[in-house]
Amino acid sequence: MGPVLAAGHVNCDVIVRVDRLPEPDAESAIRSFDRSCGGSAANVAVSLSRLSVPAGIVGSVGTDEAGTRAAATLEREGVSTAGLREAPEGPTAVKHVLVDDRGEVALLGTDGVNEAIEPGDVDPERVRRAGHVHLTSQRPATAARIARVASEAGVGVSFDPGRRVGERTYDGVFAHVDTVFATAREAESLPEDGDYALVVTDGADGAELRTAEGRRHHPGFAVDTVDTTGAGDAFAAGFLAATLEGACEKRALAYGNACGAMATTSEGAQTGPDRARLERFLDARN
Ligand code: ADP
Repeated sequence: MGPVLAAGHVNCDVIVRVDRLPEPDAESAIRSFDRSCGGSAANVAVSLSRLSVPAGIVGSVGTDEAGTRAAATLEREGVSTAGLREAPEGPTAVKHVLVDDRGEVALLGTDGVNEAIEPGDVDPERVRRAGHVHLTSQRPATAARIARVASEAGVGVSFDPGRRVGERTYDGVFAHVDTVFATAREAESLPEDGDYALVVTDGADGAELRTAEGRRHHPGFAVDTVDTTGAGDAFAAGFLAATLEGACEKRALAYGNACGAMATTSEGAQTGPDRARLERFLDARN
């Protein structure tokens, strides 16, 4: 099987730990600052690679230090960067991730050159050779092209449109997807007549798979959460890794929830487990 391509954002994250998320007219105390890599597509690619699923990225970074660091992180994690475009026209996207003492998250971001990839920049051969394509929030026309090329070649397509799903029109993507990942709030903005499996994640309460055959819920795993950034991306990687290996729905949900839960137990967006840790975690809870 060819590598799983994750297409979408590649960010540089600045993690700011605060006592509480700021409210209007109030002051929050900063506990620490940390820099790490993020962006939904990069997070999923790194998580897959740690689970021993060959992965590649399709996205863009600037020619600045942040972009060089993001690319180096992907390579160190074993992710192919052949589809990572260096875009000289602007900076790498930076997200300031505010994390409070309960692990709740709020974001301040610049988009940078995250959407410099246009439909014509996508190598259709790489998409056709992929074992699967996972799309995250990105320029809708680019996502639509990747989805169409993949589905015409019989390559599976999943999509996690993310927080801004209600602001963008992804009709050209939804027409070709097999699986959509969304939080309960994001699911409210999805088209009503979609012909795909929908996985609704629900934080500490696990996730539910909704298909034409019915609904299956998995309650998730209780862990000591310190930072929920990237939990949804780790979930998607775990769910996809299991599904691509032919696992049943129940096992795919357990894998997703375990990866999501484990990712919340340390700081940063790319904290999904490797295969051995995942198996130990699941064995200890069976
Ligand atoms: P997102 O990270 O995209 O906002 P969720 O908050 O729904 O999405 O989290 C995705 C998945 O990560 C959940 O379905 C669950 O498996 C896991 N997860 C998230 N938060 C927690 C938590 N506090 N405890 C245990 N698992 C969690």
